[in-house]
Amino acid sequence: MLSAFLGNNMTNYNVILSVPPNPYFTPLVVPKQDVNEVLWLGAIFDPVRKHYYIPHNLPNRNLLFKWVARGRSQKNALKINLLPTTVKPAALRWYLETDDWKALSREVRAAKGDRCEFCGGAGRDQPSQCSEVYTIDDQSKIVTLSELVSVCRACYICLHIDQADGRGIWHAQVNHLAYVNNISREMANQQAQDAIFEWNMRSECEWALDLDHLAEYGLQDRVKKTGLIL
Ligand SMILES: [Zn+2]
Repeated sequence: MLSAFLGNNMTNYNVILSVPPNPYFTPLVVPKQDVNEVLWLGAIFDPVRKHYYIPHNLPNRNLLFKWVARGRSQKNALKINLLPTTVKPAALRWYLETDDWKALSREVRAAKGDRCEFCGGAGRDQPSQCSEVYTIDDQSKIVTLSELVSVCRACYICLHIDQADGRGIWHAQVNHLAYVNNISREMANQQAQDAIFEWNMRSECEWALDLDHLAEYGLQDRVKKTGLIL
């Protein structure tokens, strides 16, 4: 699949180049031996934050993608994660008391240095928020909370790409997904379409919810019980 994709190189290379500049702060992680190369490719050093970043208007910004501070391996790339609509309430925050949710959110974000763990974004323009990631077992019909992540707004909507639909930001979000995962826009759009299709199918079924992961944060006994929870 990958070789087939790379084999069609000219078309897809052009698609990657067509990804518009990310409007957000895009920091890089640059080993000493690569400093001259990233500067030559157009990266700029920020003396306040003390690291290199990609200028917003750089035309060949894709050449710097391999240094983008993702903080996660490509294996754990930003993956769309849509909770079936039949799981209600849909957000973890509604299963916890407000103070518990706020403390949990702070802990998750602080563990990642208040950065987005997918694109590396941080700061006023790209504040991080806590989001949940679920494993969805189609056989047992159990949705399991598997991870809590620190994400910026743009990556959050990529995780929940259904929120981009109908709000005029679908293309921008697909571009962001392509940018963060360093894939073509065409491939990102296909992933998003596939996720929406799967989500619609799953939303026709009833699901049980497993929140045992909260034990890692000492909150297993603080969950408000609903009919869905195991
Ligand atoms: Zn992000």
